Amino acid sequence: MKKSTFLFIVLLIVIGKSSLKAQETTNTEFDTYKKGFLDKYWKLYPNWATLIGYHKYDSILTIPDSAQREKELKFIDKELKSLKAFNYQNLSNLNKIDFKLIETQLQQRQWEINELKAYEWNPSIYNVGEIFGYILSENYEPLDKRIKNISKLLDHVNEYYDSARSTIKNPSPEHLQLAIEQNQGSLSIFEKDLTDSIGQLKIDVKEKMNLFKKARKAANIIYSYISFLKDLKPENPRSFRLGKELYEKKFFFEIQSHFSSDQIYDAALERKEYLHHEMEKISKELWPKYFDKQPMPENRLVLIKKVIDTISIQHVKTEDFRPYIEQQLPELAKFVKEKNILYLDPSKPLKVRQEPGYMAGVAGASMSAPGPYEKNGTAYYNVGTLDGWNTEKAESYLREYNKYTLQILNIHEAIPGHYAQLVYSNQSPSLIKSVFQNSTMIEGWAVYSELMMLENGYGNDDPEMWLFYYKWNLRSTCNTILDISVHTRNMSEEQAMDLLINQAFQQKTEAEGKWHRVQVTNVQLCCYFTGFKEILDLREEYKQLKGPAYNLKSFNEKFLSYGSAPVKYIHDLLLLRDEQ
Ligand code: ZN
Ligand code: ZN
Repeated sequence: MKKSTFLFIVLLIVIGKSSLKAQETTNTEFDTYKKGFLDKYWKLYPNWATLIGYHKYDSILTIPDSAQREKELKFIDKELKSLKAFNYQNLSNLNKIDFKLIETQLQQRQWEINELKAYEWNPSIYNVGEIFGYILSENYEPLDKRIKNISKLLDHVNEYYDSARSTIKNPSPEHLQLAIEQNQGSLSIFEKDLTDSIGQLKIDVKEKMNLFKKARKAANIIYSYISFLKDLKPENPRSFRLGKELYEKKFFFEIQSHFSSDQIYDAALERKEYLHHEMEKISKELWPKYFDKQPMPENRLVLIKKVIDTISIQHVKTEDFRPYIEQQLPELAKFVKEKNILYLDPSKPLKVRQEPGYMAGVAGASMSAPGPYEKNGTAYYNVGTLDGWNTEKAESYLREYNKYTLQILNIHEAIPGHYAQLVYSNQSPSLIKSVFQNSTMIEGWAVYSELMMLENGYGNDDPEMWLFYYKWNLRSTCNTILDISVHTRNMSEEQAMDLLINQAFQQKTEAEGKWHRVQVTNVQLCCYFTGFKEILDLREEYKQLKGPAYNLKSFNEKFLSYGSAPVKYIHDLLLLRDEQ
């Protein structure tokens, strides 16, 4: 070997080592930065901190005034500068994602304050009910300690609503109405829950009377905020529709997809057409089984609806609702194992419980995940009963959640959906990823897992199973079409009802509820379909990359190993890492 070549190689090794060292240093520094960032973050957002289980600032009520917004903007400026000081390329994959999550969160808030300005036109963001309700109902500390903090918060309720009153400008009538309803809903926290709790305290009478007085005063302040809202006659009320420009930007920050909202809209329309086509095929195939020689409707939507309505009668009895759901969980786990879909950690079995009282009557089943600061918290699968429902309401619900749909619900909520994802995400612990978790990835995974199970033969390829899967998938698809159409394309209520009832086969009450929701929220309804599409696309790319070596289980496990991060970042890292 020539001397110069030898020197060159030595030089390379030295550079290699020093860049490794630089990477190590950058990551250590970034880890320290993240800790400091969250400490400052919770100081700036004390009530958000409380709600996710960080209790250092329970005694502080955030006053939603311009001074607070100024403070936020300054903080954002400073932190964005701090981020710039890091050499991004030197960060580990997981830290790269954390970096992007922090950056996006800061930029989103900056945009919300400067451009979106919902604090002016959406009066429903002013409501102290949630923070008081949370501290009262969550037993993380002894009651007397919690009431001490509540007492301090009560001193600032007046200031809170004063700044609301002076900030609100030309609210949309729909958000105005929502604000009235939701603040009315909060009254019972002060007039009942809080007074009941004060009554239980073992403190002297004078102190007790003082607390009762403060609770009464807070309730009166809310009453006066409600009458202020009722008297508001805005001259130029804002439309509840977000409008294209704001919508696109919010979609970018919140969904965090590499697709634009227009691209997702087109994809959803295409998916709807595909689903109708497949449902028509199955309905034709099933017609003789259920309708014998009756003539088949010519209109495909009428045909599909008729078949769906007929099969929906196959539902469990009211009293079997919970047992049926519970029985399925071990079967789902067994199927996932047999078909090599995903490794499920047997030491973390799903804990099923009857849904707690405050959730009663909401949904058939749902996951409760512990917050980022509840280290030893348990994840629960809440299953409701239909006890006490009248026959008509129960029947309609049971048809909607018939024996096919219930299985899809279990896949979505539990195995291999939300629950399995949660277990994986806890294995790559990052406070940043839990605090700023990406709901598009989380919901996308659950929606993707429904299809993945059926693709692998879950439900024995029964046409009925597929038909109800398609109906279920049509719901997230149409949620997306609805949200984008209403907020950027002026879709009318009548058109919305046609989409939901005639094209997505929903019950009238369900469709009306969705119309209400789409008026007062925006973008969120897109996360299910967008995440689903992104994951399917990514799996396809991964398949191409791996060729004959492709394996579903390893795709799923690698995908989940990055935690609840936006799919676009997982996409880049997953494909990059595998090329090496
Ligand atoms: Zn979900
Ligand atoms: Zn790609």
